[in-house]
Amino acid sequence: MMASFPVFALDFSDTISTFFPYLQLLLHENIYNKSPVLTVISALWLYFLGTFFFDIVHCILHQCSKSSYRALRALGSLHMVHHLFINRRLKFNQRYHWHNIFLEIPLELSCQLVGTRIGWYPLRKVGLTGPGLISEYVGSVVNAVQIIRVLVVMIQGGRDSNHISYHQVPKSPTMIIVGPEYHALHHVFPDRYMSSAFQIFDWIFGLNYSLKAKRIAIAGGDTGYGRALLHELQRDGVSCIKDFKLGHSTEALVQIFKNTDILILAEGRNNLDTKIFLINLFCQHTTPRPGFDMTLPEVWSVDFGMDADTSFGTPFPNSLTQGARFLSTMRALYNNPSFVYRHILLASCGSGNLEARSRAAETMWWIRRGGKFVPVGQALMGYVRLLSFIWWTRFAVDEVEIFGNVKGTPFAAG
Ligand SMILES: [Zn+2]
Ligand SMILES: [Zn+2]
Repeated sequence: MMASFPVFALDFSDTISTFFPYLQLLLHENIYNKSPVLTVISALWLYFLGTFFFDIVHCILHQCSKSSYRALRALGSLHMVHHLFINRRLKFNQRYHWHNIFLEIPLELSCQLVGTRIGWYPLRKVGLTGPGLISEYVGSVVNAVQIIRVLVVMIQGGRDSNHISYHQVPKSPTMIIVGPEYHALHHVFPDRYMSSAFQIFDWIFGLNYSLKAKRIAIAGGDTGYGRALLHELQRDGVSCIKDFKLGHSTEALVQIFKNTDILILAEGRNNLDTKIFLINLFCQHTTPRPGFDMTLPEVWSVDFGMDADTSFGTPFPNSLTQGARFLSTMRALYNNPSFVYRHILLASCGSGNLEARSRAAETMWWIRRGGKFVPVGQALMGYVRLLSFIWWTRFAVDEVEIFGNVKGTPFAAG
């Protein structure tokens, strides 16, 4: 069977295998003579299951650490040593160096190995394993990768690529993979951002956010939707909420924004220039409280009566119309690295309390899952068309000349 492969392939595998036995396993005929696509997908599935199982155990250990039972707290401490090694300020504490290496890292590895093993059963159940299909060697290769990764982390003293000592945690660049920015938020907020490699666990359980002790300023808190949203925010443990009007003087707004972490613009369908003025003013003056400066400020902008299906479903206009300018601006705000921007597209909503509460609950459902473009009450196809429109419109950003990627630099609307 090996003779059917080109000579260079044989030479390559034989040479590498002399130095690296795991690569020999990877290139073994039991793997590479099966469907490569199936092999890659099954390897990803097994790796994902390993990390997902650790995420479940991770979440349980955090619950145990808060238990009133001493035995459960002792169990939770197996993971808490990791949070002592890298604290909420993202500072490494060498006192817990060995605790982290001999308790946390083997715990993570054993969960991954068990999870990968569990992931094998559904593959076998649906008949994907066996001759000509997925080989058991795939599981062995995934296990080898997991073990090698952990050995490398141990050699590095527990300082892997996901543990960086930021002064302020930047925006996470991805919505799926857990990178250093995302994992840093777990150290800042240990009861949130539980996922270790893929954000799926946090999507499912709504742990991809934290509003704890945040100071909120809202324009439009007296509407039905605004009141329902405030109710949801209070349930999430925000520190304080200030309701303000757009008619306030600039000096009064500055005083409010100095003590604000999250600005919510929910006062009807504001003029775009007014919104940019307020966001600009907020970014220049927001000042975190001492000890609460690890995360970026946030802006939530609500657009009422925006039915994605009808407002943006028309073909892309040739000229930069008001709609295109609006979406370009939204995209530029979203890309700005100095604050987190969430755009809430609220479909036409009646005046009933029940409907307002349901819209507010839907808003928070998305935000708890890290939503940045938040469709509320939108038809699915309308949202899909809106997303494609936004994606296309990003190329028009230069035309509207949006600035402001550093605090204090003004935005300018075209
Ligand atoms: Zn960590
Ligand atoms: Zn943790």
